[in-house]
Amino acid sequence: MLCPNCNQPMNLVIADDQKILHCSNCGGSFFEENGINKITLNTAQTLAEDKKSDEISSNEKKCPKDQTLLKPILPNCNQSHQISSHISDDITLLHCQKCRGIFAYPDDLISLKKTQVAKIEYYKHWQLPLNLLKKTIILGVGALIFTAVIVNYTYFQKALNQANASDLIKKLYLSRSANYLFLFFKTEKPFRSKVIFQDATDKKIIKKILSPQPKTIHQLTTTEINLENDIYYQIVLTQENGLEIKTEVKRLIMNN
Ligand SMILES: [Zn+2]
Ligand SMILES: [Zn+2]
Repeated sequence: MLCPNCNQPMNLVIADDQKILHCSNCGGSFFEENGINKITLNTAQTLAEDKKSDEISSNEKKCPKDQTLLKPILPNCNQSHQISSHISDDITLLHCQKCRGIFAYPDDLISLKKTQVAKIEYYKHWQLPLNLLKKTIILGVGALIFTAVIVNYTYFQKALNQANASDLIKKLYLSRSANYLFLFFKTEKPFRSKVIFQDATDKKIIKKILSPQPKTIHQLTTTEINLENDIYYQIVLTQENGLEIKTEVKRLIMNN
């Protein structure tokens, strides 16, 4: 079976009880349905390191098993794969609609696993039911060092010019792992949400949408924010009627 990316023969690797087709040339891996959720970060790292080149071809990518054209999985689309809720817009995964296999480039595989580890740590920290995260993600998640800061939500309650502000942001949680920023909060009522980051060092503004549709759980994983810089952020909630409610601009402080 040939690699969808570089057309070299793929090897069968068994890791974490998953059958994985792996290409030692470009480092790409093809997983059976949900197999990608069941491997550990360690396995992902081993797979990602086994490559000879960083070749990314612009050819059409075909499933190594059935030659179906592979298509990208969109973040939070929920239509095809439960994995879609775990990918951010900087992770590209390709999937086969016939056998439901998933192809990942080595960097994206690592990004995905780190994102999943960050989420699991968050859920453990707040003792939230892990089934919210879909049970398929493996929980044996090696040693990834986290720094976290919990921002008291009463700060935001004061900041919101709303009579029922206490109904708004609950338990804002920020954590970082390497260059990944993970942000999470809940609202009692569904809101659309976005965060506006101001990078005072590089003098730029980065807007990230968390919930394009009204939701009560809002989360973001991104590598776009340079966490070494002086960063400020503001959360914007949008009501059903289009009214925007903003928090004050707050400095992002990660204790590392
Ligand atoms: Zn390859
Ligand atoms: Zn297939």
